[in-house]
Amino acid sequence: MFRVDTLKGRVAFITGGGGGIGLEIASCYARLGASVAIAGRNEERLQSGLERLRADGGDAIALRADVRNYEELKAAIDAAVAKFGGLDILVNNAAGNFHCPTAELSPNGWRTVVDIDLNGTFYGCHAAYGHLRRSRFGGSIISIITMLGLSGWPGAAHAAAAKAGILSLSRTLAVEWGGDNIRVNTISPGPIGDTEGVKRLYVDTGREDLERRKTALGRFGKKQDIANAAVFLASDLAGYVTGENMIVDGGRWLKYVAA
Ligand code: NAP
Repeated sequence: MFRVDTLKGRVAFITGGGGGIGLEIASCYARLGASVAIAGRNEERLQSGLERLRADGGDAIALRADVRNYEELKAAIDAAVAKFGGLDILVNNAAGNFHCPTAELSPNGWRTVVDIDLNGTFYGCHAAYGHLRRSRFGGSIISIITMLGLSGWPGAAHAAAAKAGILSLSRTLAVEWGGDNIRVNTISPGPIGDTEGVKRLYVDTGREDLERRKTALGRFGKKQDIANAAVFLASDLAGYVTGENMIVDGGRWLKYVAA
């Protein structure tokens, strides 16, 4: 268990924080003392996320922003800074994905996913940089990717390429911005139960059991597993960790390689 003051006094901005893994991260951050801004496109999702955060006693706001729009995302980040007085943690969590064999994937479908995942992450990092470098704790950027970005992902070439791009971007920024005391890391979840991603890609397509068996632990992860990694990477506990990709996948990656 983390101490309740692990993130005390810090401000976090989480894209796609209205639901799923993003909201779990936001909720953990808030319970550990951070002020939290969640951003996304869907007002209803944001409002219900905000209610949960406030019910947990968190200091939170919700901001409408499409990560594909740099100006909109920057305005939301600036608004969070105006509200809370600074920014210490950026979590690039927003993503889009759908199953489609590459031969049938339209340029528009490709562009949409790359725009949300890769371009949205770059926009977030770029818009947050000036604030993060002024963080008294040292800035922390955490982006959520997947090891399927490294292995390749048949049926999701768009998402795989975008996630691999985020890993590369993160390692570049870890070096470029290390001198500004900004740490830049990624988390690679495996299949996480009770999420939209697993429902759409595995449950709805009848691949649930197969995907479970692909992990060394033989089960899906929990949203809390990813939130725990995101707390660690955002906190002083990871003060000397940058350029790292933390794999939280129940051994799926290793099982692929070792099989
Ligand atoms: P999710 O429930 O589908 O949540 C995605 C979030 O992104 C939503 O809150 C959505 O909110 C937001 N979003 C999508 N497009 C956006 C845009 N253009 N601008 C702003 N926000 C946008 O996803 P999840 O399953 O929790 O996954 C969260 C992250 O973990 C993603 O990066 C995903 O790739 C990664 N991941 C998940 C799994 C898994 O098992 N679930 C495994 C590996 C990696 P709005 O619709 O309101 O905009």
